Amino acid sequence: MTITPLTIEEELKKCVKCGACMAVCPIYRQTGREEMVARGKLNLIEIIRNNEELPPAWIEAVDHCLLCCSCEENCSKGVKITEIIAAARNHQTEIIGLNPIKKGAFALLKNRILSLARVVKLGSLLQWLLWQKLPNHSGLVRRFTLPGIDSKTVIPALPLKNLDDLLKRRQPVPELQPILFFSGCATRFLHPQIGLDLIFVLEQLGFNAITPKKFNCCGMVTWGAGDKSTNRELQASNLKVLNDNAHIKEVVTGCASCGHALKEYDNLPEDCEILDISELLFRHREKLEQLVGSRQITQKITYHDPCHLSKGQEVTKEPRWLLKLIAGDNFIEMRHPERCCGAGGTFGLTHKEISREILKEKTDDCDATGAEIVTSGCPGCILQLTEGAVVSKSSWQAEHPITLLAELLRSK
Ligand code: SF4
Ligand code: SF4
Repeated sequence: MTITPLTIEEELKKCVKCGACMAVCPIYRQTGREEMVARGKLNLIEIIRNNEELPPAWIEAVDHCLLCCSCEENCSKGVKITEIIAAARNHQTEIIGLNPIKKGAFALLKNRILSLARVVKLGSLLQWLLWQKLPNHSGLVRRFTLPGIDSKTVIPALPLKNLDDLLKRRQPVPELQPILFFSGCATRFLHPQIGLDLIFVLEQLGFNAITPKKFNCCGMVTWGAGDKSTNRELQASNLKVLNDNAHIKEVVTGCASCGHALKEYDNLPEDCEILDISELLFRHREKLEQLVGSRQITQKITYHDPCHLSKGQEVTKEPRWLLKLIAGDNFIEMRHPERCCGAGGTFGLTHKEISREILKEKTDDCDATGAEIVTSGCPGCILQLTEGAVVSKSSWQAEHPITLLAELLRSK
């Protein structure tokens, strides 16, 4: 979505200072500070919106947001809070520039095929020097003391082969119905198995997944950082791919953040429909029920709602339907599945302490269910939950629901 200065002015006026956003903001829950909740942030943004001088308190307030949409969902006035915060971050970026690490990372995103894939491959070769694999979990922890990285920080194990590499030998099934698959960077470069599982399930359902290599990052991370110009470039390159394939109307993704970002694009091709994988499966539930038959997962599982799926796209019943289908009574709800896990894109890396406090609430909730597997339809949440399991010494693993479904369909 493109928000204009005029729209921001109107959005800010909609806030009636009721404070309903205070009840749900994870940052406010941890800090208890008014300027950390939407109402306080909007006040600060309104006062100095067009100012060239940005006081540290303003920067701190704008910076301390997970863009989790919890406040938006609870706001009876429908204030587009996350859009305002992203616009404020853009204002900050225009005045003091982007942090150099993000600047470098976003430059890679713009030139993904050449650069990002090579950087990840190089990282996958060198990672074992500094990091080691976690027993029973995906992800790596540091081998030695590393400056600025605490001992429980979990990073994803970088696979030598990304999803594009793994799909080189794939034999598409042209007689099946084509569907576009937007894998997203996390699935493509960090968790390619989720992509393979998703494609396998699509084929079982009668779809031929088309995976254009020219799809780029969805732009969510650049939007959240206030880098409007990179975000525009990424959107434009993805829109070109969508337009080039405009005869295929359905676009599916297994990443909550990518789905949320794509659904907000202006100028999607006519009749183009972006679907989370759980929405697509729900639409074809009769066939999937037949495919699953009487098979069921025997482990206890629970589900964490990714903010960008539940609040961003209002998709909550479909993943639950799927989990009940494959796990029956072994699916147990946690007390607060809707609460953010504290990942928030890069927030978990840049604000470790507060992110961990938010994560602790989540892992306590997961532990209380007695589940052996915690599922979530977002690769970013899966990584954060994995770190949470390590920190809390929990015995559960975090998985994408599509992985469990694919394993079940592959079993005899
Ligand atoms: S809930 Fe909405 S209207 Fe109420 S204070 Fe928060 S942002 Fe303003
Ligand atoms: S988006 Fe989330 S973290 Fe940011 S102000 Fe709203 S509730 Fe708080």
